[in-house]
Amino acid sequence: MNKGNPVYTTEAECQDCFKCVRNCPAKAIRIKDAHAEVIPELCVACGRCLAVCPAHAKCVRDDLGKVRETLSVGEKPHVSLAPSWNGSFPTLSAAGICALIRDLGFAGVSETAIGAQRVSRAVADTMKESGRDVMISSACPAVKEFVRVLFPEWVHTVSALPSPLLEHCRVIHETFGKDVKVVFFGPCVAKKLEADQHPELLFAALGFTDLERLIHEKNIDLKTYESIPETGGAFELEKAQEGALYPAEGGMMESLNVYDGVPPAAGIAVSGLDNIRAALTGTKPSDIREPTFIEALACFGGCVNGPCVTSELTPLERIARVRRNLTIPPKGVERTPAAELECPASALQTEPEPAPDEIIKALKRVGKTTPEDELNCGGCGYDTCRRFARALAIGKAEPSMCVSYMRKLATKKANALLNCMPCGVVIVDSDMKIVECNAAFADMLDENAKMAFEACPGLAGANIHKLIPFGDLFTEAFESGREVERAHCNLNGKLIDISIFTIEPGRTVGATFADVTGMELRRDQIARKAREVLAKNLTTVQDIAWKLGEHMADTEILLRSIADGYSSTQDQGSWKDVGKDETTPEEEK
Ligand code: SF4
Ligand code: SF4
Repeated sequence: MNKGNPVYTTEAECQDCFKCVRNCPAKAIRIKDAHAEVIPELCVACGRCLAVCPAHAKCVRDDLGKVRETLSVGEKPHVSLAPSWNGSFPTLSAAGICALIRDLGFAGVSETAIGAQRVSRAVADTMKESGRDVMISSACPAVKEFVRVLFPEWVHTVSALPSPLLEHCRVIHETFGKDVKVVFFGPCVAKKLEADQHPELLFAALGFTDLERLIHEKNIDLKTYESIPETGGAFELEKAQEGALYPAEGGMMESLNVYDGVPPAAGIAVSGLDNIRAALTGTKPSDIREPTFIEALACFGGCVNGPCVTSELTPLERIARVRRNLTIPPKGVERTPAAELECPASALQTEPEPAPDEIIKALKRVGKTTPEDELNCGGCGYDTCRRFARALAIGKAEPSMCVSYMRKLATKKANALLNCMPCGVVIVDSDMKIVECNAAFADMLDENAKMAFEACPGLAGANIHKLIPFGDLFTEAFESGREVERAHCNLNGKLIDISIFTIEPGRTVGATFADVTGMELRRDQIARKAREVLAKNLTTVQDIAWKLGEHMADTEILLRSIADGYSSTQDQGSWKDVGKDETTPEEEK
Protein backbone atom coordinates (compact mmCIF):
# COMPACT_ATOMS: atom_id res chain seq x y z
CA MET A 1 0.00 0.00 0.00
CA ASN A 2 1.51 3.33 -1.07
CA LYS A 3 -0.41 5.99 0.80
CA GLY A 4 1.76 8.67 -0.77
CA ASN A 5 0.08 8.27 -4.14
CA PRO A 6 -3.20 10.14 -4.70
CA VAL A 7 -4.91 6.75 -5.18
CA TYR A 8 -3.90 3.50 -3.47
CA THR A 9 -5.26 0.06 -2.57
CA THR A 10 -6.20 -1.05 0.93
CA GLU A 11 -4.78 -4.57 0.67
CA ALA A 12 -7.00 -6.11 3.33
CA GLU A 13 -10.09 -5.08 1.36
CA CYS A 14 -8.88 -6.18 -2.10
CA GLN A 15 -10.80 -9.24 -3.29
CA ASP A 16 -8.50 -9.82 -6.25
CA CYS A 17 -11.29 -9.54 -8.83
CA PHE A 18 -9.18 -7.53 -11.38
CA LYS A 19 -12.10 -5.18 -12.05
CA CYS A 20 -9.86 -2.17 -11.42
CA VAL A 21 -7.17 -3.64 -13.70
CA ARG A 22 -9.71 -4.02 -16.49
CA ASN A 23 -11.06 -0.51 -16.01
CA CYS A 24 -7.89 1.47 -15.34
CA PRO A 25 -7.41 3.47 -18.55
CA ALA A 26 -3.71 4.01 -17.82
CA LYS A 27 -3.01 0.33 -17.03
CA ALA A 28 -1.48 1.56 -13.80
CA ILE A 29 -2.50 -1.38 -11.62
CA ARG A 30 -0.43 -4.52 -11.20
CA ILE A 31 -1.17 -7.71 -9.30
CA LYS A 32 1.38 -8.21 -6.57
CA ASP A 33 1.10 -10.78 -3.76
CA ALA A 34 -2.47 -11.46 -4.90
CA HIS A 35 -3.47 -7.80 -4.53
CA ALA A 36 -4.17 -5.12 -7.12
CA GLU A 37 -1.50 -2.52 -6.44
CA VAL A 38 -1.53 0.98 -7.93
CA ILE A 39 1.74 1.85 -9.69
CA PRO A 40 2.41 5.45 -8.62
CA GLU A 41 4.60 6.31 -11.63
CA LEU A 42 1.80 5.36 -14.02
CA CYS A 43 -1.36 6.31 -12.14
CA VAL A 44 -2.95 9.40 -13.69
CA ALA A 45 -5.25 9.83 -10.67
CA CYS A 46 -8.39 9.79 -12.79
CA GLY A 47 -10.31 8.07 -9.98
CA ARG A 48 -12.00 5.49 -12.23
CA CYS A 49 -10.90 2.60 -10.00
CA LEU A 50 -12.55 4.27 -6.99
CA ALA A 51 -15.89 4.04 -8.74
CA VAL A 52 -15.59 0.51 -10.11
CA CYS A 53 -14.04 -1.40 -7.18
CA PRO A 54 -16.90 -3.49 -5.71
CA ALA A 55 -14.96 -4.05 -2.46
CA HIS A 56 -14.21 -0.30 -2.00
CA ALA A 57 -10.55 -1.23 -1.70
CA LYS A 58 -9.31 1.81 -3.62
CA CYS A 59 -8.77 4.94 -1.54
CA VAL A 60 -7.93 8.58 -2.14
CA ARG A 61 -4.97 9.95 -0.18
CA ASP A 62 -6.31 11.88 2.78
CA ASP A 63 -4.82 15.39 2.69
CA LEU A 64 -7.44 16.86 4.98
CA GLY A 65 -5.23 16.17 8.03
CA LYS A 66 -2.54 18.65 7.06
CA VAL A 67 -5.17 21.30 6.31
CA ARG A 68 -6.79 20.72 9.72
CA GLU A 69 -3.38 21.13 11.37
CA THR A 70 -2.80 24.41 9.54
CA LEU A 71 -6.19 25.70 10.61
CA SER A 72 -5.64 24.55 14.20
CA VAL A 73 -2.50 26.69 14.59
CA GLY A 74 -4.39 29.75 13.40
CA GLU A 75 -3.02 29.87 9.86
CA LYS A 76 -5.66 30.94 7.39
CA PRO A 77 -5.17 29.42 3.94
CA HIS A 78 -6.94 30.89 0.91
CA VAL A 79 -9.35 28.66 -0.95
CA SER A 80 -9.44 28.10 -4.71
CA LEU A 81 -13.00 26.90 -5.33
CA ALA A 82 -13.72 24.87 -8.48
CA PRO A 83 -16.50 26.32 -10.68
CA SER A 84 -18.51 23.10 -10.38
CA TRP A 85 -19.14 23.81 -6.66
CA ASN A 86 -22.83 24.57 -7.23
CA GLY A 87 -23.34 21.03 -8.56
CA SER A 88 -22.16 19.61 -5.21
CA PHE A 89 -23.73 22.21 -2.90
CA PRO A 90 -26.82 23.08 -4.94
CA THR A 91 -28.75 24.65 -2.04
CA LEU A 92 -26.15 27.36 -1.41
CA SER A 93 -25.64 30.70 -3.10
CA ALA A 94 -22.11 31.93 -3.90
CA ALA A 95 -22.37 34.20 -0.85
CA GLY A 96 -23.54 31.23 1.23
CA ILE A 97 -20.65 28.91 0.35
CA CYS A 98 -18.09 31.69 0.79
CA ALA A 99 -19.46 32.50 4.27
CA LEU A 100 -19.42 28.80 5.15
CA ILE A 101 -15.80 28.31 4.05
CA ARG A 102 -14.66 31.41 5.91
CA ASP A 103 -16.41 30.14 9.06
CA LEU A 104 -14.36 26.93 8.74
CA GLY A 105 -11.27 29.08 9.34
CA PHE A 106 -10.08 29.97 5.84
CA ALA A 107 -9.01 33.51 4.95
CA GLY A 108 -11.23 33.78 1.91
CA VAL A 109 -12.50 32.12 -1.25
CA SER A 110 -11.86 32.87 -4.89
CA GLU A 111 -12.77 31.05 -8.07
CA THR A 112 -10.39 28.69 -9.86
CA ALA A 113 -12.14 29.99 -12.98
CA ILE A 114 -10.11 33.22 -12.65
CA GLY A 115 -7.05 31.15 -13.56
CA ALA A 116 -9.02 29.48 -16.36
CA GLN A 117 -9.74 32.85 -18.00
CA ARG A 118 -6.04 33.70 -18.09
CA VAL A 119 -5.26 30.30 -19.60
CA SER A 120 -7.99 30.79 -22.23
CA ARG A 121 -6.56 34.15 -23.12
CA ALA A 122 -3.09 32.63 -23.64
CA VAL A 123 -4.54 29.76 -25.72
CA ALA A 124 -6.50 32.24 -27.85
CA ASP A 125 -3.30 34.14 -28.55
CA THR A 126 -1.60 30.91 -29.65
CA MET A 127 -4.48 29.93 -31.90
CA LYS A 128 -4.25 33.20 -33.73
CA GLU A 129 -0.64 32.44 -34.68
CA SER A 130 -0.13 31.04 -38.15
CA GLY A 131 1.77 27.80 -38.73
CA ARG A 132 1.30 26.49 -35.19
CA ASP A 133 1.02 22.77 -34.46
CA VAL A 134 -1.68 20.69 -32.88
CA MET A 135 -2.02 21.42 -29.15
CA ILE A 136 -3.62 19.48 -26.27
CA SER A 137 -4.96 21.60 -23.42
CA SER A 138 -3.22 21.47 -20.06
CA ALA A 139 -6.40 22.03 -18.06
CA CYS A 140 -6.77 18.45 -16.83
CA PRO A 141 -3.78 17.01 -14.94
CA ALA A 142 -5.08 13.46 -15.48
CA VAL A 143 -4.99 13.96 -19.26
CA LYS A 144 -1.46 15.36 -19.13
CA GLU A 145 -0.31 12.26 -17.24
CA PHE A 146 -2.34 9.97 -19.51
CA VAL A 147 -0.60 11.31 -22.60
CA ARG A 148 2.79 10.96 -20.89
CA VAL A 149 2.14 7.34 -19.92
CA LEU A 150 0.36 6.00 -23.00
CA PHE A 151 1.12 8.38 -25.87
CA PRO A 152 4.72 9.55 -25.42
CA GLU A 153 4.81 10.63 -29.09
CA TRP A 154 2.12 13.22 -28.22
CA VAL A 155 3.82 14.62 -25.09
CA HIS A 156 5.35 17.61 -26.92
CA THR A 157 1.86 18.69 -28.06
CA VAL A 158 0.58 19.17 -24.49
CA SER A 159 0.37 22.88 -23.78
CA ALA A 160 3.15 24.26 -21.58
CA LEU A 161 0.63 26.64 -20.03
CA PRO A 162 -0.30 26.00 -16.41
CA SER A 163 -3.63 24.45 -15.53
CA PRO A 164 -6.36 26.89 -14.45
CA LEU A 165 -5.74 25.87 -10.82
CA LEU A 166 -1.99 26.52 -10.88
CA GLU A 167 -2.55 29.83 -12.68
CA HIS A 168 -5.10 30.74 -10.02
CA CYS A 169 -2.58 29.88 -7.29
CA ARG A 170 -0.15 32.27 -8.98
CA VAL A 171 -2.79 35.02 -8.93
CA ILE A 172 -3.52 34.40 -5.23
CA HIS A 173 0.19 34.58 -4.42
CA GLU A 174 0.58 37.74 -6.51
CA THR A 175 -2.36 39.29 -4.65
CA PHE A 176 -1.95 38.09 -1.06
CA GLY A 177 1.76 37.36 -0.86
CA LYS A 178 4.09 34.47 -1.66
CA ASP A 179 3.74 32.90 1.80
CA VAL A 180 0.00 32.33 1.86
CA LYS A 181 -1.17 28.76 1.54
CA VAL A 182 -3.71 27.80 -1.11
CA VAL A 183 -6.15 24.95 -0.61
CA PHE A 184 -8.25 23.74 -3.53
CA PHE A 185 -11.76 22.32 -3.12
CA GLY A 186 -13.21 20.60 -6.18
CA PRO A 187 -14.46 17.40 -7.82
CA CYS A 188 -10.98 16.19 -8.79
CA VAL A 189 -8.45 13.66 -7.47
CA ALA A 190 -5.86 14.45 -10.16
CA LYS A 191 -5.31 17.94 -8.72
CA LYS A 192 -3.37 16.17 -5.95
CA LEU A 193 -0.71 15.45 -8.58
CA GLU A 194 -0.43 19.20 -9.14
CA ALA A 195 -0.05 19.80 -5.41
CA ASP A 196 2.73 17.16 -5.38
CA GLN A 197 4.50 18.65 -8.40
CA HIS A 198 4.09 22.32 -7.39
CA PRO A 199 4.01 22.52 -3.58
CA GLU A 200 5.31 26.10 -3.86
CA LEU A 201 1.98 27.06 -5.48
CA LEU A 202 -0.60 24.64 -4.08
CA PHE A 203 -0.60 23.50 -0.43
CA ALA A 204 -3.36 20.88 -0.73
CA ALA A 205 -5.95 19.69 -3.24
CA LEU A 206 -9.10 18.45 -1.54
CA GLY A 207 -12.39 17.11 -2.84
CA PHE A 208 -15.89 18.45 -2.28
CA THR A 209 -16.19 15.26 -0.25
CA ASP A 210 -13.51 16.65 2.12
CA LEU A 211 -15.37 19.94 2.40
CA GLU A 212 -18.44 17.97 3.42
CA ARG A 213 -16.37 16.08 6.05
CA LEU A 214 -15.07 19.36 7.51
CA ILE A 215 -18.62 20.70 7.71
CA HIS A 216 -19.73 17.58 9.63
CA GLU A 217 -16.69 17.63 11.93
CA LYS A 218 -17.43 21.22 12.93
CA ASN A 219 -21.12 20.38 13.47
CA ILE A 220 -22.09 23.09 11.03
CA ASP A 221 -25.71 23.11 9.94
CA LEU A 222 -25.81 23.77 6.20
CA LYS A 223 -29.31 25.23 6.58
CA THR A 224 -27.83 28.26 8.35
CA TYR A 225 -26.08 29.17 5.11
CA GLU A 226 -28.89 28.21 2.74
CA SER A 227 -30.77 31.38 3.63
CA ILE A 228 -27.90 33.67 2.60
CA PRO A 229 -29.03 35.38 -0.61
CA GLU A 230 -26.93 35.83 -3.72
CA THR A 231 -24.92 39.03 -3.38
CA GLY A 232 -22.23 40.42 -5.61
CA GLY A 233 -18.66 40.44 -4.32
CA ALA A 234 -18.82 37.21 -2.30
CA PHE A 235 -15.59 35.93 -3.82
CA GLU A 236 -12.16 37.43 -3.31
CA LEU A 237 -10.59 38.91 -6.44
CA GLU A 238 -12.98 39.51 -9.32
CA LYS A 239 -16.11 37.50 -10.21
CA ALA A 240 -15.27 34.83 -12.80
CA GLN A 241 -17.07 34.91 -16.14
CA GLU A 242 -16.31 32.69 -19.17
CA GLY A 243 -13.73 30.75 -17.12
CA ALA A 244 -16.61 29.19 -15.18
CA LEU A 245 -17.56 27.26 -18.35
CA TYR A 246 -14.52 24.97 -18.01
CA PRO A 247 -16.02 22.12 -15.94
CA ALA A 248 -18.40 20.96 -18.69
CA GLU A 249 -17.16 19.37 -21.91
CA GLY A 250 -16.78 22.03 -24.60
CA GLY A 251 -16.70 24.83 -22.01
CA MET A 252 -13.08 25.69 -22.61
CA MET A 253 -13.65 25.87 -26.39
CA GLU A 254 -16.67 28.08 -25.77
CA SER A 255 -14.65 30.38 -23.51
CA LEU A 256 -12.29 31.11 -26.43
CA ASN A 257 -15.14 32.73 -28.37
CA VAL A 258 -14.90 35.90 -26.30
CA TYR A 259 -11.54 36.70 -27.84
CA ASP A 260 -11.18 38.44 -31.16
CA GLY A 261 -9.46 36.72 -34.04
CA VAL A 262 -9.72 33.08 -32.87
CA PRO A 263 -10.42 31.02 -36.00
CA PRO A 264 -13.75 29.17 -35.76
CA ALA A 265 -13.77 25.36 -35.64
CA ALA A 266 -10.05 25.29 -34.88
CA GLY A 267 -10.42 22.78 -32.10
CA ILE A 268 -12.24 19.76 -30.80
CA ALA A 269 -13.48 18.87 -27.33
CA VAL A 270 -13.21 15.31 -26.09
CA SER A 271 -13.94 13.95 -22.62
CA GLY A 272 -13.41 10.58 -20.96
CA LEU A 273 -10.04 8.84 -21.09
CA ASP A 274 -11.42 6.05 -23.30
CA ASN A 275 -12.55 8.63 -25.85
CA ILE A 276 -9.23 10.43 -25.63
CA ARG A 277 -7.40 7.17 -26.23
CA ALA A 278 -9.65 6.44 -29.20
CA ALA A 279 -8.93 9.91 -30.58
CA LEU A 280 -5.15 9.58 -30.30
CA THR A 281 -4.67 5.90 -31.12
CA GLY A 282 -3.31 5.32 -34.60
CA THR A 283 -2.68 9.02 -35.22
CA LYS A 284 0.62 10.85 -35.05
CA PRO A 285 0.69 14.58 -34.35
CA SER A 286 2.39 15.08 -37.73
CA ASP A 287 -0.65 13.49 -39.43
CA ILE A 288 -2.72 16.53 -38.47
CA ARG A 289 -2.01 19.29 -41.00
CA GLU A 290 -4.50 21.85 -39.72
CA PRO A 291 -3.66 23.83 -36.59
CA THR A 292 -5.93 22.11 -34.07
CA PHE A 293 -6.57 22.65 -30.39
CA ILE A 294 -7.78 19.61 -28.42
CA GLU A 295 -9.74 20.34 -25.25
CA ALA A 296 -9.34 17.07 -23.36
CA LEU A 297 -10.91 16.24 -19.99
CA ALA A 298 -10.41 12.88 -18.28
CA CYS A 299 -13.87 12.69 -16.75
CA PHE A 300 -16.68 11.84 -19.12
CA GLY A 301 -18.74 15.00 -19.65
CA GLY A 302 -16.10 17.10 -17.86
CA CYS A 303 -15.16 17.96 -14.26
CA VAL A 304 -18.85 18.18 -13.31
CA ASN A 305 -18.66 14.37 -13.18
CA GLY A 306 -15.37 14.20 -11.27
CA PRO A 307 -14.80 11.51 -8.63
CA CYS A 308 -15.21 13.85 -5.62
CA VAL A 309 -18.63 15.38 -6.32
CA THR A 310 -21.06 15.01 -3.45
CA SER A 311 -24.60 15.76 -4.57
CA GLU A 312 -27.27 13.43 -5.90
CA LEU A 313 -27.87 15.64 -8.95
CA THR A 314 -27.70 14.00 -12.36
CA PRO A 315 -24.77 14.88 -14.66
CA LEU A 316 -27.14 16.94 -16.81
CA GLU A 317 -28.40 18.89 -13.80
CA ARG A 318 -24.82 19.56 -12.73
CA ILE A 319 -23.94 20.85 -16.21
CA ALA A 320 -26.99 23.12 -16.14
CA ARG A 321 -25.91 24.55 -12.77
CA VAL A 322 -22.52 25.55 -14.12
CA ARG A 323 -24.35 28.17 -16.20
CA ARG A 324 -26.48 29.43 -13.35
CA ASN A 325 -25.79 33.14 -12.64
CA LEU A 326 -23.07 33.06 -15.29
CA THR A 327 -22.19 36.25 -17.14
CA ILE A 328 -20.35 35.85 -20.44
CA PRO A 329 -18.47 39.06 -21.31
CA PRO A 330 -18.86 40.72 -24.71
CA LYS A 331 -16.40 39.74 -27.44
CA GLY A 332 -13.06 41.45 -27.21
CA VAL A 333 -12.70 41.33 -23.43
CA GLU A 334 -9.23 42.08 -22.09
CA ARG A 335 -7.55 39.49 -19.84
CA THR A 336 -4.00 38.96 -18.58
CA PRO A 337 -2.62 35.88 -20.36
CA ALA A 338 -1.15 33.05 -18.30
CA ALA A 339 2.58 32.49 -18.67
CA GLU A 340 4.07 29.07 -19.36
CA LEU A 341 4.96 26.87 -16.40
CA GLU A 342 7.84 24.43 -16.36
CA CYS A 343 6.93 20.84 -15.57
CA PRO A 344 9.22 19.05 -13.07
CA ALA A 345 11.45 16.46 -14.76
CA SER A 346 10.25 13.73 -12.39
CA ALA A 347 6.81 13.95 -13.97
CA LEU A 348 8.14 13.02 -17.38
CA GLN A 349 9.16 9.41 -16.71
CA THR A 350 7.92 6.82 -19.15
CA GLU A 351 7.79 3.04 -18.91
CA PRO A 352 10.66 0.88 -20.22
CA GLU A 353 9.87 -0.69 -23.59
CA PRO A 354 10.60 -4.45 -23.65
CA ALA A 355 12.39 -5.94 -26.69
CA PRO A 356 10.27 -8.03 -29.14
CA ASP A 357 11.82 -11.33 -27.94
CA GLU A 358 10.87 -10.45 -24.35
CA ILE A 359 7.26 -10.04 -25.49
CA ILE A 360 7.40 -13.46 -27.21
CA LYS A 361 8.82 -15.00 -24.01
CA ALA A 362 6.07 -13.38 -21.96
CA LEU A 363 3.42 -14.73 -24.36
CA LYS A 364 4.87 -18.23 -23.92
CA ARG A 365 4.58 -17.89 -20.14
CA VAL A 366 0.81 -17.82 -20.58
CA GLY A 367 0.76 -20.63 -23.13
CA LYS A 368 0.45 -18.43 -26.23
CA THR A 369 2.75 -19.81 -28.87
CA THR A 370 0.73 -19.24 -32.07
CA PRO A 371 -1.24 -16.24 -33.36
CA GLU A 372 -4.44 -18.29 -32.84
CA ASP A 373 -3.64 -18.49 -29.11
CA GLU A 374 -3.84 -14.70 -28.89
CA LEU A 375 -7.55 -14.34 -28.17
CA ASN A 376 -7.39 -10.60 -27.32
CA CYS A 377 -10.37 -11.22 -25.03
CA GLY A 378 -9.52 -8.34 -22.68
CA GLY A 379 -10.19 -10.48 -19.58
CA CYS A 380 -6.79 -9.52 -18.14
CA GLY A 381 -7.61 -5.83 -18.36
CA TYR A 382 -5.44 -5.20 -21.43
CA ASP A 383 -6.89 -4.67 -24.91
CA THR A 384 -4.66 -7.22 -26.58
CA CYS A 385 -2.60 -10.24 -25.54
CA ARG A 386 0.52 -8.39 -26.72
CA ARG A 387 -0.17 -5.40 -24.48
CA PHE A 388 -0.64 -7.84 -21.61
CA ALA A 389 2.61 -9.63 -22.54
CA ARG A 390 4.38 -6.26 -22.55
CA ALA A 391 3.06 -5.63 -19.02
CA LEU A 392 4.20 -9.15 -18.02
CA ALA A 393 7.66 -8.48 -19.43
CA ILE A 394 8.13 -5.30 -17.40
CA GLY A 395 6.72 -6.83 -14.20
CA LYS A 396 3.41 -4.96 -14.21
CA ALA A 397 1.25 -8.03 -14.66
CA GLU A 398 1.17 -11.65 -13.50
CA PRO A 399 0.29 -14.79 -15.51
CA SER A 400 -2.69 -15.38 -13.20
CA MET A 401 -4.40 -12.36 -14.81
CA CYS A 402 -4.83 -14.24 -18.12
CA VAL A 403 -8.26 -15.84 -17.91
CA SER A 404 -7.76 -18.32 -20.77
CA TYR A 405 -4.39 -19.43 -19.38
CA MET A 406 -5.82 -19.94 -15.89
CA ARG A 407 -8.78 -21.83 -17.32
CA LYS A 408 -6.51 -24.18 -19.25
CA LEU A 409 -4.32 -24.63 -16.19
CA ALA A 410 -7.35 -25.44 -14.02
CA THR A 411 -8.63 -27.92 -16.63
CA LYS A 412 -5.23 -29.62 -16.80
CA LYS A 413 -5.07 -29.91 -13.02
CA ALA A 414 -8.62 -31.25 -12.81
CA ASN A 415 -7.92 -33.79 -15.57
CA ALA A 416 -4.72 -34.95 -13.89
CA LEU A 417 -6.63 -35.42 -10.64
CA LEU A 418 -9.52 -37.23 -12.35
CA ASN A 419 -7.23 -39.59 -14.19
CA CYS A 420 -5.15 -40.60 -11.20
CA MET A 421 -8.22 -41.46 -9.10
CA PRO A 422 -8.63 -45.26 -8.65
CA CYS A 423 -12.43 -45.11 -8.74
CA GLY A 424 -14.61 -44.12 -11.68
CA VAL A 425 -15.74 -40.48 -11.78
CA VAL A 426 -18.40 -39.04 -14.06
CA ILE A 427 -19.90 -35.53 -14.23
CA VAL A 428 -23.39 -35.29 -15.72
CA ASP A 429 -25.50 -32.25 -16.64
CA SER A 430 -29.26 -31.84 -16.23
CA ASP A 431 -29.81 -33.11 -19.80
CA MET A 432 -28.23 -36.37 -18.65
CA LYS A 433 -25.24 -35.67 -20.87
CA ILE A 434 -21.76 -36.53 -19.67
CA VAL A 435 -19.61 -33.45 -19.14
CA GLU A 436 -16.47 -35.38 -18.22
CA CYS A 437 -15.48 -38.84 -17.02
CA ASN A 438 -12.24 -40.60 -16.27
CA ALA A 439 -10.70 -43.80 -17.65
CA ALA A 440 -11.62 -45.78 -14.50
CA PHE A 441 -15.30 -45.04 -15.19
CA ALA A 442 -14.97 -46.06 -18.85
CA ASP A 443 -13.29 -49.33 -17.75
CA MET A 444 -16.49 -50.34 -15.95
CA LEU A 445 -18.61 -49.96 -19.11
CA ASP A 446 -19.09 -52.38 -22.00
CA GLU A 447 -16.61 -52.78 -24.85
CA ASN A 448 -18.38 -50.29 -27.15
CA ALA A 449 -18.24 -47.57 -24.52
CA LYS A 450 -14.57 -48.31 -23.86
CA MET A 451 -13.83 -47.89 -27.57
CA ALA A 452 -15.82 -44.66 -27.60
CA PHE A 453 -13.73 -43.40 -24.65
CA GLU A 454 -10.52 -44.17 -26.54
CA ALA A 455 -11.78 -42.15 -29.50
CA CYS A 456 -13.23 -39.35 -27.37
CA PRO A 457 -11.61 -39.23 -23.90
CA GLY A 458 -14.05 -37.85 -21.38
CA LEU A 459 -17.11 -39.05 -23.35
CA ALA A 460 -18.43 -35.47 -23.36
CA GLY A 461 -22.01 -35.32 -24.67
CA ALA A 462 -22.76 -39.07 -24.27
CA ASN A 463 -26.11 -39.88 -22.64
CA ILE A 464 -25.61 -41.53 -19.24
CA HIS A 465 -28.84 -43.57 -19.66
CA LYS A 466 -27.35 -45.31 -22.68
CA LEU A 467 -24.17 -46.26 -20.85
CA ILE A 468 -25.48 -47.64 -17.56
CA PRO A 469 -28.76 -49.40 -16.69
CA PHE A 470 -29.32 -47.36 -13.53
CA GLY A 471 -29.23 -43.84 -15.03
CA ASP A 472 -32.47 -43.17 -13.11
CA LEU A 473 -30.34 -42.59 -10.02
CA PHE A 474 -29.03 -39.44 -11.74
CA THR A 475 -32.55 -38.32 -12.73
CA GLU A 476 -33.65 -38.77 -9.10
CA ALA A 477 -30.64 -36.85 -7.81
CA PHE A 478 -31.54 -33.90 -10.07
CA GLU A 479 -35.27 -34.04 -9.31
CA SER A 480 -34.95 -34.40 -5.54
CA GLY A 481 -31.86 -32.23 -5.16
CA ARG A 482 -30.61 -34.86 -2.70
CA GLU A 483 -27.37 -36.74 -2.86
CA VAL A 484 -27.28 -40.51 -3.39
CA GLU A 485 -25.07 -42.24 -0.86
CA ARG A 486 -23.50 -45.61 -1.55
CA ALA A 487 -26.16 -47.29 -3.65
CA HIS A 488 -25.13 -50.78 -4.79
CA CYS A 489 -25.85 -51.65 -8.44
CA ASN A 490 -24.87 -54.39 -10.81
CA LEU A 491 -22.92 -53.24 -13.85
CA ASN A 492 -21.63 -55.78 -16.36
CA GLY A 493 -21.41 -58.50 -13.70
CA LYS A 494 -19.70 -56.26 -11.18
CA LEU A 495 -21.06 -54.93 -7.94
CA ILE A 496 -20.67 -51.14 -8.03
CA ASP A 497 -20.90 -48.80 -5.05
CA ILE A 498 -22.24 -45.42 -6.33
CA SER A 499 -22.34 -42.02 -4.63
CA ILE A 500 -23.90 -39.07 -6.47
CA PHE A 501 -23.21 -35.52 -5.25
CA THR A 502 -24.25 -32.05 -6.41
CA ILE A 503 -21.72 -29.80 -8.13
CA GLU A 504 -24.03 -26.97 -9.30
CA PRO A 505 -27.58 -27.28 -7.93
CA GLY A 506 -29.97 -28.21 -10.76
CA ARG A 507 -27.20 -28.06 -13.36
CA THR A 508 -24.46 -30.62 -12.75
CA VAL A 509 -23.88 -33.60 -10.52
CA GLY A 510 -20.82 -35.76 -10.08
CA ALA A 511 -20.69 -39.46 -9.20
CA THR A 512 -18.04 -41.86 -7.97
CA PHE A 513 -18.21 -45.51 -9.05
CA ALA A 514 -16.27 -47.99 -6.86
CA ASP A 515 -16.04 -51.65 -7.88
CA VAL A 516 -16.71 -53.52 -4.62
CA THR A 517 -17.14 -56.98 -6.17
CA GLY A 518 -13.81 -58.20 -4.73
CA MET A 519 -14.68 -56.80 -1.34
CA GLU A 520 -18.03 -58.67 -1.36
CA LEU A 521 -16.28 -61.92 -2.32
CA ARG A 522 -13.88 -61.56 0.56
CA ARG A 523 -16.84 -60.88 2.82
CA ASP A 524 -18.45 -64.20 1.72
CA GLN A 525 -15.23 -66.07 2.43
CA ILE A 526 -14.98 -64.55 5.89
CA ALA A 527 -18.62 -65.49 6.61
CA ARG A 528 -18.00 -69.11 5.51
CA LYS A 529 -14.92 -69.35 7.74
CA ALA A 530 -16.88 -67.88 10.61
CA ARG A 531 -19.61 -70.45 10.09
CA GLU A 532 -16.99 -73.26 10.10
CA VAL A 533 -15.46 -71.97 13.31
CA LEU A 534 -18.90 -71.70 14.88
CA ALA A 535 -19.74 -75.24 13.86
CA LYS A 536 -16.46 -76.51 15.34
CA ASN A 537 -17.08 -74.60 18.52
CA LEU A 538 -20.52 -76.16 18.75
CA THR A 539 -19.07 -79.65 18.37
CA THR A 540 -16.50 -78.93 21.05
CA VAL A 541 -19.18 -77.61 23.37
CA GLN A 542 -21.29 -80.70 22.72
CA ASP A 543 -18.25 -82.92 23.42
CA ILE A 544 -17.60 -81.09 26.63
CA ALA A 545 -21.24 -81.35 27.55
CA TRP A 546 -21.22 -85.12 26.83
CA LYS A 547 -18.08 -85.55 28.91
CA LEU A 548 -19.60 -83.47 31.64
CA GLY A 549 -22.73 -85.61 31.43
CA GLU A 550 -20.63 -88.81 31.77
CA HIS A 551 -18.78 -87.32 34.67
CA MET A 552 -22.06 -86.29 36.27
CA ALA A 553 -23.36 -89.84 35.94
CA ASP A 554 -20.21 -91.22 37.68
CA THR A 555 -20.59 -88.65 40.40
CA GLU A 556 -24.22 -89.55 40.85
CA ILE A 557 -23.41 -93.27 41.18
CA LEU A 558 -20.72 -92.49 43.73
CA LEU A 559 -22.97 -90.23 45.74
CA ARG A 560 -25.75 -92.75 45.72
CA SER A 561 -23.42 -95.48 47.05
CA ILE A 562 -22.21 -93.12 49.80
CA ALA A 563 -25.80 -92.26 50.65
CA ASP A 564 -26.68 -95.88 50.82
CA GLY A 565 -23.68 -96.54 53.04
CA TYR A 566 -24.72 -93.64 55.23
CA SER A 567 -28.26 -94.95 55.74
CA SER A 568 -26.91 -98.44 56.73
CA THR A 569 -24.65 -96.95 59.49
CA GLN A 570 -27.38 -94.67 60.85
CA ASP A 571 -27.46 -96.35 64.25
CA GLN A 572 -23.72 -96.34 64.83
CA GLY A 573 -23.22 -92.48 64.59
CA SER A 574 -23.77 -89.36 62.63
CA TRP A 575 -22.68 -88.65 59.08
CA LYS A 576 -20.08 -86.41 60.59
CA ASP A 577 -18.84 -89.08 62.82
CA VAL A 578 -18.51 -91.53 59.97
CA GLY A 579 -16.31 -89.10 58.10
CA LYS A 580 -14.35 -88.25 61.21
CA ASP A 581 -13.61 -91.83 61.94
CA GLU A 582 -12.15 -92.24 58.50
CA THR A 583 -9.88 -89.15 58.73
CA THR A 584 -6.17 -89.90 59.24
CA PRO A 585 -4.22 -88.07 61.98
CA GLU A 586 -2.18 -86.19 59.27
CA GLU A 587 -5.36 -84.89 57.67
CA GLU A 588 -6.58 -83.61 61.02
CA LYS A 589 -3.45 -81.49 61.36
S1 SF4 B 1 -6.81 6.42 -10.41
FE1 SF4 B 1 -7.11 5.99 -12.60
S2 SF4 B 1 -5.05 5.68 -13.37
FE2 SF4 B 1 -4.90 5.54 -11.16
S3 SF4 B 1 -5.07 3.35 -10.73
FE3 SF4 B 1 -7.13 4.22 -10.57
S4 SF4 B 1 -8.04 3.93 -12.59
FE4 SF4 B 1 -5.82 3.66 -12.84
S1 SF4 C 1 -11.83 16.15 -15.98
FE1 SF4 C 1 -11.69 17.62 -14.33
S2 SF4 C 1 -12.27 16.48 -12.47
FE2 SF4 C 1 -11.81 14.97 -14.07
S3 SF4 C 1 -9.67 14.50 -13.74
FE3 SF4 C 1 -9.72 16.12 -15.27
S4 SF4 C 1 -9.53 18.00 -14.11
FE4 SF4 C 1 -10.05 16.39 -12.66
